Amino acid sequence: MEKLAHIGIAVEDMEKALAFYRDVLGFEASPPQVVEEQQVKVVFLPLGETKLELLEPTGPDSPVARFLRERGEGVHHLAVQVADIEAKLKEIEASGARLIDKTPRQGAGGSKIAFLHPKSTSGVLLELCQKG
Ligand code: ZN
Repeated sequence: MEKLAHIGIAVEDMEKALAFYRDVLGFEASPPQVVEEQQVKVVFLPLGETKLELLEPTGPDSPVARFLRERGEGVHHLAVQVADIEAKLKEIEASGARLIDKTPRQGAGGSKIAFLHPKSTSGVLLELCQKG
C-alpha cells in the first residue's frame, strides 16, 4: 500500500462543484475525463501528495448515480495506490475478504483500478489503483 491516491467525491453537478472547489477554494482542476466503463465524468483536484476526485454520473445506470440516489452527495470512496494491483487482489481474495472487482478494470488516465467491498473494509468503499 503506497499512498492515498485520491478521495472520490460524488457530485450531482460538476460545474456547480467546480464553482466552489476551483473558484472559491482555489483548487487547480484537471480537464474533465469521461470513464465510459463506469459512466462517470471525473475531474481531479491535486492536493499535495494526493488529490480529490470529483465524480459526476453520465447516465442513470452509473454506480455513482445510484449512490447519489441512495445517499446524496458526499465522500464516495478512498483510493490507495499499489504497485501491483493483480498481486494485491489475489492476496486479498485469498484472505477471504470480499472484492467487487476480482480483476482490475480501466480507470481514469490509463490507470488500473479495482474496488473492495465495504463489508470487508469496515464500511468504506476502497479502491486500489495502479498508475497507468
Ligand atoms: Zn477513484
